[in-house]
Amino acid sequence: MGSIIDIKTEQVRLVYSAIPLSALAIFINSTLLGIVLWTVTSSEIILSWLAATYLLSALRLWHYRKFKACNPSPADIGRWRNQALIATVLSGLLWGTASLVLFPGDDIAHQVFLAFVVAGMSAGAVTTLSAYTTACLVFISLALLPIVLRFSLLGSSLGYTMAFMSALFLVMLMITSTRLNRTILGALEMRYGRQVAEATVRRQALYDTLTDLPNRRMFFDRLKQELARSQRHKHLGVVMFLDIDHFKKINDSLGHLVGDELLVAVADRLKGRLRDEDVIARLGGDEYVILVPEIGDALEGATRRAQLFAEELLTLIRGHFDIRGHNLHVTASIGITLFPLQQKTPEDLLQQADTAMYQAKREGRNSACFFLPNMQEAANHRLSIEKGLHQALARDEFELYYQPQFDSHGVLIGAEALLRWHHPERGTVSPGEFITIAEESGIILEIGEWVLRAACRAVSALSLHHLTISVNVSPRQFKDPNFVERVKRVLDDTGADPRRLRIEITESTVIDNIEQTIVRLQQLKALGISFSIDDFGTGYSSLAYLKRLPVDVIKIDQSFVRDIETDANDAAIVETIIVMAKHLGLGVVAEGVEPESMRSSLLSKGCHQFQGYLFSRPLPFPILQSQYLTGQARQVDPKLPA
Ligand code: GH3
Ligand code: MG
Repeated sequence: MGSIIDIKTEQVRLVYSAIPLSALAIFINSTLLGIVLWTVTSSEIILSWLAATYLLSALRLWHYRKFKACNPSPADIGRWRNQALIATVLSGLLWGTASLVLFPGDDIAHQVFLAFVVAGMSAGAVTTLSAYTTACLVFISLALLPIVLRFSLLGSSLGYTMAFMSALFLVMLMITSTRLNRTILGALEMRYGRQVAEATVRRQALYDTLTDLPNRRMFFDRLKQELARSQRHKHLGVVMFLDIDHFKKINDSLGHLVGDELLVAVADRLKGRLRDEDVIARLGGDEYVILVPEIGDALEGATRRAQLFAEELLTLIRGHFDIRGHNLHVTASIGITLFPLQQKTPEDLLQQADTAMYQAKREGRNSACFFLPNMQEAANHRLSIEKGLHQALARDEFELYYQPQFDSHGVLIGAEALLRWHHPERGTVSPGEFITIAEESGIILEIGEWVLRAACRAVSALSLHHLTISVNVSPRQFKDPNFVERVKRVLDDTGADPRRLRIEITESTVIDNIEQTIVRLQQLKALGISFSIDDFGTGYSSLAYLKRLPVDVIKIDQSFVRDIETDANDAAIVETIIVMAKHLGLGVVAEGVEPESMRSSLLSKGCHQFQGYLFSRPLPFPILQSQYLTGQARQVDPKLPA
């Protein structure tokens, strides 16, 4: 549609741009005609006709200058086109009049000369007016039909022949003009099609197609300019990195269309709050960046204003969004960094704001956080761990250790598989240092599968001993839609007996989506796998959900077990958990048992399964085998690595 309007404009422009040349041609031809016919036609008529022709040409030139000066918009172009048509009609009428009033009655040479000039003017009009077919056809018809009429009125055979020739010439010109018009239109359409395509490509390179906000590239360009300007003018600017909290939940529960519209609505709302000189861009996903080029001259004032502004944006986002009939409430986290405080590149600044945003997420979301240098260290550490994790799988740096579990008679009943990372520089890294990072970066899926596979191989190797091997499954791994399939595949590949495999999930995994958890647990249970809830008592344990979950064992968290002998509250909690588990028909395993008095205390409260340093540290698989499964000593070896 846009290109068609442009084509119309261009057609009219072509018509106007030919006016000077056609005025010159009219001036020369009409003057020559006047001179040649001077002796055979009334001089008054010639002069009157010439005056009218000159006047019209002058008017057209003046009109042309006006057109050039105002450079009309597509909306005005219709008016200009009509005016061009009127001028053409008048011009055609004048040339037609020439045939009627200047036609010398019986001088064939002058008649032919007049016909020649009129035909020449008509042929010229085809080149200058073909961009606008109507004008061209009207002009040549008005100019040539009178001469056809005059020749036919001569009544001679030569007159009829000339009339016929002139009429034929008119038809030829009409056909040529129509063809030429098509060629011009085709060329214009091609040119505009190309221009539109180029503009689209340019726009896509710099703008986000969903929200129409500038994209990362354009943001960097602006940030680079503003950074240089702020250094020159000694004022402070701010970059804010805004990320919507738990946006995935909206996508998951209401669909991507709702998610998309929310992203657009958030963009519009933020844009509405900013000034013309500020920049807001969408970097992708639910991430927006805001650049305020001037927020103050002194650090203190700028910091305060940036903080207030970020809070204002958070409040803005908190207002409800009405998307496709859903009343949505969302929050966002913002990372803030001021510039130019050190010699930082635009990339550094964005990285800093991102790091600060990440910190705001950690602090509970729905908040704004300034960038601090120590965050950078933490971020670097995080990055290096993340990078290391990717290599760890390839370099086979992971190992499973097994912490034995015993019953009240000291009989080994199973073991919990615990992951260790033998880092080439840092030595053995415990899961506490890397599991969260693995979870956040998504690599947990691969690590989790490796763990499951290794544990299942252990289950296979221990098939004669009837031990249950427990494996921790992270929330993200458990929520993976293909989790059940993955487990099945690993069981098939390793030949492990599912009845000897126990999956440990945490309370938070359960709470996040209780219905889905139940379905998934049931699917796995159907394979023969058993379940325990890890760290029981630390989350939001509720009898209501515990009753509905097909779990087999509850593990009492170390934090309660540790102070069972000294803290009456912890003792009461442990006792309650044990009683509750008994009523629900669930087994109970106490973790972190050490020393012996703790074991006695747990035993007296009804707990009959234990895991802890009192019995054994986590052991590499070969040591577990040699120490416990060859009929040898059951003592803890304190020198074993933990
Ligand atoms: P957090 O609070 O940690 O930010 O959690 P979150 O759920 O918001 O997750 P995160 O910001 O990491 O991920 C944003 C998600 O946005 C990831 C992706 O599924 C989704 N997403 C990315 N691009 C688009 C898009 O164009 N449209 C929609 N609807 N969703 C998108
Ligand atoms: Mg988000």
